[in-house]
Amino acid sequence: MSKTDEEVLIPTTTFAATGEVVAYLGARPVLVDIDPISLNIDPFDAKRRITTRTRALIPVHMAGQPCDMDELCCLANDHGLHTIEDAAHALPSEYRSRRVGNLSELTAFSFYATKTLTTGEGGMITTNNDAYAARMRIMRLHGISGDAWKRYGKNGSWFYEVVEAGFKYNPTDLQAALGLVQLAKCDPLNDARRRIAERYTAAFKEVRALESPTLKCDRATSWHLYILRLRLEQLRIDRDTFIRELKRYGIGTSVHFIPLHLHPYYQRTYGYRNGDFPVAEAEFERCLSLPIYPCMTNENVEYVIDRVTEVAARARR
Ligand SMILES: *Cc1c(COP(=O)(O)O)cnc(C)c1O
Repeated sequence: MSKTDEEVLIPTTTFAATGEVVAYLGARPVLVDIDPISLNIDPFDAKRRITTRTRALIPVHMAGQPCDMDELCCLANDHGLHTIEDAAHALPSEYRSRRVGNLSELTAFSFYATKTLTTGEGGMITTNNDAYAARMRIMRLHGISGDAWKRYGKNGSWFYEVVEAGFKYNPTDLQAALGLVQLAKCDPLNDARRRIAERYTAAFKEVRALESPTLKCDRATSWHLYILRLRLEQLRIDRDTFIRELKRYGIGTSVHFIPLHLHPYYQRTYGYRNGDFPVAEAEFERCLSLPIYPCMTNENVEYVIDRVTEVAARARR
């Protein structure tokens, strides 16, 4: 079987990165619909899309809420698939009292500027597999064997061997310094985000047209995003108009995400079409991400609550 026959299951509701990594390796990203409550990959739909060519599964912990990992790991075990978590949103998140990064064989985190812990650019992979760890250490710096750091040390030697065609994926010392300081603040920053999320949720409970995020009881989220959903049947305006109204009040929002199957690359390359993933499309049409960041003041939060409530009230059917 050639690499191009290999398939990797990913949710359609995710960022470009989750799919492009599959394409880089010559495999085919097979898109999966999402669960309408958590916005995470739907394990039942994933199961339906497994074929003899499926090799791996990449769950994405949307907004920070961990996926149904027990169900997904079971599915992966039953079908001999690797599990690689996309935890770009999930630092720190917990599933059944275990931190994300400690749930499956490989977990990828992002330290991009918009994420909960940032080094400007960069990321981290956690693994419980020594052979994967050794290979990643070699591949991240030009496929050179032996730790480069040791070469530069006092007892270091000039000798090295190139054992693979590697990459230049090492973090810089400056990024490491930023990251270490942020890591020490990871939990307090998460508490600050949670407090904002709780205030949003308490306020929006009173508004019929607004639906706050639902967190399953056995997990904790990083609150990377606060994804509000509109009950469009209660409103005379659509999501895009809602966003424009908030923008007039100086409130910046975003949409996470335009499902991959609606993008030209996926339609052109893999033949996906509008309508292929009804749940992802319905949720996409009605979601927007509100401002949430640790240094957001109480006044900022009140302002967002007041304006969002006002726009919803004005547009009520
Ligand atoms: C940000 C993001 C990534 C990619 O992270 P980079 O560090 O920018 O490569 C991957 N997946 C998801 C879901 C993301 O939001």
